[in-house]
Amino acid sequence: MNCDLQALANVDTADPDQAMALLQECTQALESPELWLWTIAFTIVGAVVGGLIGRRKKTVMRDVILGAALGPIGWIISLCLPAPKPAPACPACKQEVAVGDRHCRHCGAALTPSRAGGRGLG
Ligand SMILES: [Zn+2]
Repeated sequence: MNCDLQALANVDTADPDQAMALLQECTQALESPELWLWTIAFTIVGAVVGGLIGRRKKTVMRDVILGAALGPIGWIISLCLPAPKPAPACPACKQEVAVGDRHCRHCGAALTPSRAGGRGLG
């Protein structure tokens, strides 16, 4: 018995042994090393191409995961997603500050709303 639609159409549903034999035949396809090699190769290629797409936007990790999980669909999603906004920087010391901070956590300089991202600072 082969694992194909012809065997599925001809299986005697009243005979559990026949149905079980067909199920066993079909699950043996999962044990094929060739199938796993193709799966692993496809995942690696997806991750590498995703990383190359992410390098431009500096979102390598996000795009590696998308490419590995979804393949070409992940690449398209990576290309469509916007690059994240750069974190705001302190005008005095140029260190990175959090959006919404009123004072720089590195030098204590007061941050104006526009320089700090303008969110949550009325
Ligand atoms: Zn500062």
